[in-house]
Amino acid sequence: MADRYQKFTKTPIGRFVVPKLGLPNPPTLRRYQPGQPPLDGPALLGAAPNGRLEKPLRTQLDAAGIEVLTAPVDDQRYGALVFDASGITDPADLRELHRFFSPVIRKVGASGRVVVLGTPPEHVEGRERIAQRALEGFTRSVGKELKRGATSQLVYVARGAEEATESTMRFLLSAKSAFVDGQVIRIGTHGKTSSAPESWDRPLAGRIALVTGASRGIGAAIARVLARDGAHVVALDIPAQGADLAKVTNDVGGSALQLDITAPDAPDRLAGYLTERHGGVDVVVHNAGITRDKTLANLTESAWSAVLTVNLVAQLAVNDKLLADKVLRDNGRIVGVSSIAGIAGNVGQTNYATSKAGVIGMVNDGAPTLAERGGTINAVAPGFIETKMTAAVPLFIREAGRRMSSLTQGGLPVDVAETIAWYANPASAAVNGNVVRVCGQALIGA
Ligand code: NAD
Repeated sequence: MADRYQKFTKTPIGRFVVPKLGLPNPPTLRRYQPGQPPLDGPALLGAAPNGRLEKPLRTQLDAAGIEVLTAPVDDQRYGALVFDASGITDPADLRELHRFFSPVIRKVGASGRVVVLGTPPEHVEGRERIAQRALEGFTRSVGKELKRGATSQLVYVARGAEEATESTMRFLLSAKSAFVDGQVIRIGTHGKTSSAPESWDRPLAGRIALVTGASRGIGAAIARVLARDGAHVVALDIPAQGADLAKVTNDVGGSALQLDITAPDAPDRLAGYLTERHGGVDVVVHNAGITRDKTLANLTESAWSAVLTVNLVAQLAVNDKLLADKVLRDNGRIVGVSSIAGIAGNVGQTNYATSKAGVIGMVNDGAPTLAERGGTINAVAPGFIETKMTAAVPLFIREAGRRMSSLTQGGLPVDVAETIAWYANPASAAVNGNVVRVCGQALIGA
């Protein structure tokens, strides 16, 4: 699983050879540690005239313990550059981006953050719509230009949702978003009344979270992070994974549930278990997934249906049951695990990519229903993540998967888990219907 090349780049020989040959030099990403300051340096906050987000942002950054500067300071390295572009109503005003960023972009520190905030283009018309849509090209290009593990994101905030951005800003302006880069996030109005958790360190205290496929890999990391955030985790996996599952649940103080989610009675058994033991569930993470790779001409019907059933059909059956019987409590969260293959397609993965694109469909279709109940449904789309699944990929493809991204390395399971924890946070009630890639801005599907 280890990225040997990245380790080599940190050795004395590697440090000498890599720049000489112009080889990729993957930076060491800053990752979350309890008690660490959110950013490694102050945030510089700017705004185009008449922005509606600058004021609430200021309050939120202060509350998060981030030092905020409103004018550049000579010789200062910044932990983040944050720009309120909501006042840009005409393409000519896009020059405000250049004015703010160009003089300071080189001063973004290692694992620094660039965040631009605007208005969802589909909510406005004419020149404003065009100008707001243009922000996407800016932030994605900045992501590709930034060095040393710094990232760039765009957050579209609906009118009326100005106060609902706190959990998203705390996530983006911290080491928890280490492998999220070049993304566009939409914050709506339906959950704007959601209040901040009592403790930002344990926002899921008192909540029940179900994680499928939790015995190893990404699922085990999700279980650990949700438990760290205070949730009681019900960790589910197939009986053959029982020993690994027990280890994870022992570590996190959760409950183990051995169940094949494709069994015809799985939705009923799951609903019964969650109701009897816990009186319901607050967060459902559909992480269980499989691959059966073959090009379409060589793909058997059973390999097709196995992948579609685990990765999509079984999840829909579980959702239907948990929603119909109100086992998923009001304000509940459903999180799907898609893949960049579901966005871009991939050779030898017609079955997998179909199922993972279907997960995006599940999010699109479910978002209005969940919103009516004060809940949300979102998905992550991981890129190359260092797990047993990707360790089995042939060496050349594995190396390409790691290097062909802005961060020139694979992500860790914890990076996917932190993104899911942001969706699960009670303060993220306005984050609904999103698909955020956790891919280090991979070129695939970019
Ligand atoms: P993994 O194979 O290590 O873990 C998947 C888990 O799901 C296993 O523990 C497995 O036993 C469980 N599972 C499979 N079928 C099940 C069933 N019918 N019922 C219950 N549990 C079942 O995989 P991973 O790399 O940790 O991936 C986790 C998720 O992330 C998957 O949905 C995968 O498609 C997705 N993903 C992974 C990557 C990556 O780079 N590793 C990239 C994109 C997406």
